[in-house]
Amino acid sequence: MDINRLLNWLDSSTCNFLAVETLRKELEAAGFTRLLPGEEWKISKGGRHYITKNDSAIFAFIVGEKSPAESGFRIISAHSDSPCFKIKPNAEIYGDGGVVSLNVEKYGGGIMYTWFDRPLSISGRVMTAGEDALHPVCHLVDLKVPVAFIPHLAIHFNRGVNEGTPLSVQKDMKPVVGFYSKEDYEAIKNRGGVVKSLVADHLGISPAEILEYELCLYPLEPAATAGASNEYFQSARIDDLSMAYAGLEAMLATADLRTDSTRILAVFDNEETGSGTKQGAASPVLAEMMQRISGAFSNNGNEEYFRSVAHSFMISADDAHAWHPNYNEKYDPTNHPVIGGGPVIKINANCKYMTDAEGAAVFRQLCNEAGVKCQYFVNHSDVAGGSTLGNILTSQIPLSGVDMGCAIWAMHSARETAGVADHFSTVKVFKRFFED
Ligand code: ZN
Repeated sequence: MDINRLLNWLDSSTCNFLAVETLRKELEAAGFTRLLPGEEWKISKGGRHYITKNDSAIFAFIVGEKSPAESGFRIISAHSDSPCFKIKPNAEIYGDGGVVSLNVEKYGGGIMYTWFDRPLSISGRVMTAGEDALHPVCHLVDLKVPVAFIPHLAIHFNRGVNEGTPLSVQKDMKPVVGFYSKEDYEAIKNRGGVVKSLVADHLGISPAEILEYELCLYPLEPAATAGASNEYFQSARIDDLSMAYAGLEAMLATADLRTDSTRILAVFDNEETGSGTKQGAASPVLAEMMQRISGAFSNNGNEEYFRSVAHSFMISADDAHAWHPNYNEKYDPTNHPVIGGGPVIKINANCKYMTDAEGAAVFRQLCNEAGVKCQYFVNHSDVAGGSTLGNILTSQIPLSGVDMGCAIWAMHSARETAGVADHFSTVKVFKRFFED
């Protein structure tokens, strides 16, 4: 396995929309065809298909040799979104010296300090008019050049900065995109402003054609290996794209196998904001897809679907917190995963994770069969941890499964760190899961 495949995918997936586009292209290259929710599906054994939702979630599947009512679905789920800053409408603020800064909104719970003084670029989607008002046309965009940055206040104006300073998104986090004379900025404003002009020029359209946009800032430094022996890799958005791409690797590597069960790779959006959208894990989007696949095997679709759920298993893959050498006191004394220690089973007594003894046993056995060691994450008993999409999804589909991930440092930083070997081990287990 080559870690550069993952690093390249991370670099091309600069936001939720671009992550789905990266996944889509890889799936298309492997013979997966797109199904449209609004049209009739023609599904047969061995068929490779995918659907997207909102351009920001994607669900790929390979139809099994047997009915899902007999052999179930094998599902790997992950999420496409990561904490970032989204550009508001009417975002540009013209200040002294002609400085133009952007009014932004925080998406998810990022570590805001890590965003200062880095080259930032802009990606997302813009909408232009289509055939009629109800069908606007979506254009994906990624500028891929450093057009913005968030300059930090000098230490001389805040001597206590290293003792900890609260940050306001509205005051402290506004990115700068350049400075312009009054006349020049008037001319740009008449074209729609700096951001719309940059995006329109990139797309080869006129700024006036842009009806709406969903654009975010992203850190531009490329993903790279790190450490004396290149044992780590660092990038933005490792949570949770590293898991989405481990699932993709497993799907592609096993695509030519004819298996009894139907394999699904489900990459939802909006995990970082609670999953409560039509493209998030709290929506019925995956359940509906499973119903339609089950229905293709029988006229009695509902019965077929209910039986299929009973035979299914889901690996809910979302990264975990690695033990940090500087903060031992934050971790559970006997269950703290380390980078390089293999995939992590996540357990929580209050059911923030979907893992139960049965789900964990299944995953451990898969690790055994794949020749991969695994480890546990449990919160320090006095520290409230995070949650993920596994248990949210079970409110839509009563699936058995496990919450797992790779152990990473600096979760939700603009540059997170994970282990190269852990990624390879995870792909091995996922492949084992998809082999039957
Ligand atoms: Zn995550």
